[in-house]
Amino acid sequence: MFGALARWRRRRVLQRVAIPDALWRDALASLPFLAVYTADELARLREKVVLFLDAKGIVGARGHEVTPLQRAIIAIQACVLVLELDLGYYAGFENVIVYPGEFVPDWEWEDEAGVVHRNDAPLAGEAMPGGPVALSWPDVAAGADWAATGMNLVIHEFAHKIDMRDGEANGCPPLPSRMPRAVWKKALTAAYDDFVARIDRGEDTEIDPYAAENPAEFFAVLSEVFFADPLLLRHEYPDVYGQFAAFYRQDPAPRAERLLAE
Ligand SMILES: [Zn+2]
Repeated sequence: MFGALARWRRRRVLQRVAIPDALWRDALASLPFLAVYTADELARLREKVVLFLDAKGIVGARGHEVTPLQRAIIAIQACVLVLELDLGYYAGFENVIVYPGEFVPDWEWEDEAGVVHRNDAPLAGEAMPGGPVALSWPDVAAGADWAATGMNLVIHEFAHKIDMRDGEANGCPPLPSRMPRAVWKKALTAAYDDFVARIDRGEDTEIDPYAAENPAEFFAVLSEVFFADPLLLRHEYPDVYGQFAAFYRQDPAPRAERLLAE
């Protein structure tokens, strides 16, 4: 019964909330890393984006007005991570907040000793457990072109959201039963330790050194690399690539290879 109702609701949303063709084309054109996807996958991605936009608000803050193209560019990248997963990974929050630039979060938190902290360093993006995703639009725009910046802010913050589905971000999202947690931990920990050692040695890495910050940032940064530069991740950390391919149920590297050969 529930399944039938869910399917009916899904059909109704897809009919009611459509993305105009021209807007869809413009949004795809600004995200070159999507070139690895087939027409069929892009059609499914478009459906997922429609369902995402029905469920979430993408709202401007501090005077920023979100254009339809900006809304589409953010939603598409958020949905790339869950193209083959349930949108339920993004349950538990309602809004994506878009700022006109870097922002200082206006929340406080209390540590175990009862001391109240405030973060007063400006941020490009932030994902809060149980709260919204916040993004600086100029940083979203810069991250759309991976070749130029080597970063993708939207994928980064939504990877944190997926990680947080089972509590605090710790670099291990809730894994499906077909994936043993020990195998994930072994691959990720070995890669993380290696990466931290490389950064400590002062090595110049193609992967953003910010990944050495902690295991949660490692997962978020490597998720960016998995989607936007899959050959780099498969080359540097093949075991992590394998775990990500199993988790996200996508295998973008062979496609990127074929594209390069064309
Ligand atoms: Zn982060």
